[in-house]
Amino acid sequence: MKTVRLEAPAKVNYRLDVIRKRPDGYHELRMIMQRVGLCDVITISLVEEPGIRVRCGRDGVPDGPGNIAWRAADALLQLSSVQTGIEIDIDKRIPVAAGLGGGSSDCATVLMGLNDLLGLDLSRERLMEIGVKLGADVPFFIYRQTALAEGIGERLSAVDAVSPVWMVLVNPNVHVSTAWVYQNLQLTSDSGTHIIPRFYGSIDEICAVLHNDLESVTISAHPVIGEIKELLVADGARGALMSGSGPTVFGLFPDEASARRSAGRLAVERGWFAAAVATL
Ligand code: ATP
Repeated sequence: MKTVRLEAPAKVNYRLDVIRKRPDGYHELRMIMQRVGLCDVITISLVEEPGIRVRCGRDGVPDGPGNIAWRAADALLQLSSVQTGIEIDIDKRIPVAAGLGGGSSDCATVLMGLNDLLGLDLSRERLMEIGVKLGADVPFFIYRQTALAEGIGERLSAVDAVSPVWMVLVNPNVHVSTAWVYQNLQLTSDSGTHIIPRFYGSIDEICAVLHNDLESVTISAHPVIGEIKELLVADGARGALMSGSGPTVFGLFPDEASARRSAGRLAVERGWFAAAVATL
């Protein structure tokens, strides 16, 4: 039996501009995406019993073909001549449906892990092509560096951003439907007209670019997101923003100690998920 154990990191969006709605219904975006050190742990094993089995054991995450990690395994098994079964165990540490890209990262990690285990030798570009059909954020997690993502998220170019940056992720555990957020978004003509730098030499330069077109839509339904931003800034964050379609908010801190203090306080006093993490 061959087994690998891999970490699948979360992401935050330093920037999310919605440029336009395409005729096919997808939204064209421009995002700066950053991986952070909050990871699901994925164990992939090749086993004798045929078929694909995914175990996650987390409410709201399906175990079978509904799991995006299952679909990643299926896509690669179809390209392989190896007769094998696949078992995938997901230790879920990234909050689900949170704007942190957990499912997409699990999917990318399974694609990369099985590429090695099955000896497929597919290029990174080929894995990204397979990945984008499974989820728009999947190619970013295969790219594995801070990126400007355009199109629906599949056109990636490298961004040079200072790292590590310490941040606090706060999830108030409210449910946000990504579809609802996009349906309620009013596009303005100036979206995407700002120049986005490709180099960020300090945390303040990152704070200057922080913006998310989806934030005001999600805050209108969940004002607690605005409250979290204010609490993070009061705790010493240089800037704070909602990630993706939310509800997770991240605050950028000048050092590890102040990030850990704030995360500990928000978790204890408010009962929210709050974690101090560094950029990868
Ligand atoms: P994004 O930032 O890419 O929009 P997200 O963090 O908001 O992603 P996910 O945690 O990826 O959202 O989950 C979205 C939905 O996908 C969940 O409601 C869940 O049922 C489903 N799902 C399928 N597979 C997974 C997986 N491996 N991990 C998490 N969710 C999964």
